[in-house]
Amino acid sequence: MEIRKAEPFKIKMVEPIRLIPREEREKRLKEAGYNPFALRAEDVYIDLLTDSGTGAMSDRQWAALMMGDEAYAGSRSFYRLEAVAKDITGYKYIIPSHQGRGAEQVVFPNVIKNKGDYVLSNMHFDTTKAHVELAGGRAINLIHEKAFDTEKYDDFKGDFDLDKLEQFIKDNGAEKIACIVITVTCNSAGGQPVSMKNIRGVKEIADKYGLKVFLDAARYAENAYFIKMREEGYKDKSIKEIAREMFSYADGFMMSAKKDGLVNMGGLIGIKDDEELYTACRSTIVPMEGFPTYGGLSGRDMEALAVGLEEALELDYLEYRIEQVKYLGDRLREAGVPIQYPTGGHAVFVDCKKICPHIPYYQFPAQAVCNAVYIEGGVRPVEIGSFLLGRDPDTGENLESPLELMRLTIPRRVYTNRHMDVVADAVIEVFKNADKLVGLEFEYEPKVLRHFTARLRPIK
Ligand SMILES: *Cc1c(COP(=O)(O)O)cnc(C)c1O
Repeated sequence: MEIRKAEPFKIKMVEPIRLIPREEREKRLKEAGYNPFALRAEDVYIDLLTDSGTGAMSDRQWAALMMGDEAYAGSRSFYRLEAVAKDITGYKYIIPSHQGRGAEQVVFPNVIKNKGDYVLSNMHFDTTKAHVELAGGRAINLIHEKAFDTEKYDDFKGDFDLDKLEQFIKDNGAEKIACIVITVTCNSAGGQPVSMKNIRGVKEIADKYGLKVFLDAARYAENAYFIKMREEGYKDKSIKEIAREMFSYADGFMMSAKKDGLVNMGGLIGIKDDEELYTACRSTIVPMEGFPTYGGLSGRDMEALAVGLEEALELDYLEYRIEQVKYLGDRLREAGVPIQYPTGGHAVFVDCKKICPHIPYYQFPAQAVCNAVYIEGGVRPVEIGSFLLGRDPDTGENLESPLELMRLTIPRRVYTNRHMDVVADAVIEVFKNADKLVGLEFEYEPKVLRHFTARLRPIK
């Protein structure tokens, strides 16, 4: 018999959670306007809203906090963080930021030179798209079609469609392209990885047309793990070597350290060797995030991040992390629940269009499933579908999302597989009775980013 592997840590400190009674959950959800964003975290048993900043720090990170140097300029903690980030990426310039969007708001205005210029990505994360647009650019997604076929297995569903990428540059002219952004892993497509071959292919096209490449590196370590496990030629390379190679094909990166940085708050900007761009970003960051040696972070935060960056590259940790997501995905698949397959790095995405064919997109089938899962098990998932997508700004009509997904996002080092079993049980129970679920209508709908604060009610 093969001996199973357990979580590669033992638990030194615990935070109690509790499951409030079912009637209480029903009451709380109603008070929250049938929108799990408005629930109090205390009323949630297992919180799978996001993996962003929700991870658990290690004893080494907590110890590092005490070593924080809170000097305004030239903090020792900055130099420690800089050394670690330089060592992983091979880049010359590192600037901290308070989180990923802080990095975006500094970099994009310095890269998008003319209004209307394009930024090309496999898929922009929401805040990335927002900052491209705020800087006057236009965000174009050029992910490969295979990402949308949820049932068909592919090793690298986050890949760019390289033909589409080159065609877009030819059709619009290289002078109209501000840069290319490779999102690793591709968050919006289900945490799906991008292969090294594809990253190299993007780099070749970029070189041919004289374009700059940036990595949106929030989950770069998870991406490196998938390359090691799935791509030919990488089996014997270390995660760090693979990460270094990924970074070598880009000119810069923006990172939300709330993911693979294993901290609750933080971000980074890295620039390989472009001194002019570095100088520009260093000036921009001062009024936005802070002096370039702290960028919105305390000295102690930078210490914890320096440790977290190294821990996230440990193979045992990554294996546990990716296997836990797969464990939950496998349990659901075995019960017939349709999910984005294979599971990606940070979440399981349940295909709710398939579960609730009787609920039309404008009554938000995935939101109905999320709510039912909260009632069933006290688990808080998040909707990624038409409720999130919003309305057409011109016609005011509800937009129809190509996929209606419920995302079960797994925080890092927080829950055990026993928790995953509870989640699976709740989802499977909801799945079995899905024909009884009803759609939702608005009680209150805000004008922008409605999913955060909208109030809904079930349609009678
Ligand atoms: C989270 C995330 C961001 C934004 O980072 P924040 O730390 O939330 O500001 C950008 N890109 C990707 C791919 C992300 O997952």
